[in-house]
Amino acid sequence: MALPVRTISLLNQKGGVGKTTTTANLGAALAAAGQRVLLIDLDPQAHLTLHLGVEPDQITRTVYDLLIEPDVTAEEAVIGARENLDVIVAEVDLAAAESELAGLDRREQILREQIRPIAGRYDVIMVDCPPSLGLLTLNALAMSREVFVPMQAHFLALQGVSKLLETVGLVCRSVNPELRVTGIVLCMHEGQTTLAKEVVDDLETFLEQARGTDVPWRDCRVLKPAIRRNIKLAEAPSFGQTILDYEPWCPGAMDYRNLADNLLKSWTAPETEAIDTSGDEVEENGSPEIITLRREASEPAETDDMTTRGTSHQSHG
Ligand code: ADP
Ligand code: MG
Repeated sequence: MALPVRTISLLNQKGGVGKTTTTANLGAALAAAGQRVLLIDLDPQAHLTLHLGVEPDQITRTVYDLLIEPDVTAEEAVIGARENLDVIVAEVDLAAAESELAGLDRREQILREQIRPIAGRYDVIMVDCPPSLGLLTLNALAMSREVFVPMQAHFLALQGVSKLLETVGLVCRSVNPELRVTGIVLCMHEGQTTLAKEVVDDLETFLEQARGTDVPWRDCRVLKPAIRRNIKLAEAPSFGQTILDYEPWCPGAMDYRNLADNLLKSWTAPETEAIDTSGDEVEENGSPEIITLRREASEPAETDDMTTRGTSHQSHG
């Protein structure tokens, strides 16, 4: 079914919400934390490819070749972008792949089957989806275990997200029963505004209603921290740099690094209730912007399918 590694599609049918920014910078932050990361650019606009500064002469094969040419292997398409960070790039031709794929057998499974031989090399695979729900996106969802939805806390955002979740529900039933929506990433967040606060409250309420049901977003969380609006994040792509290359101590870099740290903690110790980031993992830079996050004390540990419980970790520090 889904690939046997943590595979995450970054999905929102709206453009301009932060999918590519999150794929590039969260991917870079996870790689910097020691995870072996593969990023796949599945958007014909190739923004992820540009963001990572991949030089045209490094490119021999693209994700388009992988989808359309059965003889091209993922091995040939992988490009080393940074330490621990590989990428399979897109090109503008990818737009044509959508119609070419339509004529093929098992057309939504092609990417998964192509990536499978190299999947074991990675801890995390992240796919930057196009802002549409066509065959390219279906290929991403067919190979993924998880979906993260980057979004902005704007008027009507919740309507868009609830429709998107319904769509994932359909894909889950028809193509990939293992698929789960596990995280909402709030991007360009302006947490001090009343509107943003209201939207986040509504979102939390909406997600709460799904707990204990059988919908694929039943365990979905609003991931912490939200990514603040930060101009450095918008500048970095034009230099072909991730935020960690470009301005490693700006708020945007801190937010993506903290997001990566929190995800890693939840992945390695899902049964641990309190997350304590006081320790040496948070780098000392004297900045007040380091956000130490704790899960809400009221939040129950996820005990589904769990046969053993780890001993709860003591907070210290
Ligand atoms: P998508 O991939 O969903 O279309 P992008 O990640 O390309 O969205 O983001 C849309 C635009 O917003 C880009 O110009 C990007 O640089 C900018 N942007 C994304 N996140 C932030 C942020 N937190 N602060 C400021 N600008 C941002
Ligand atoms: Mg994009």
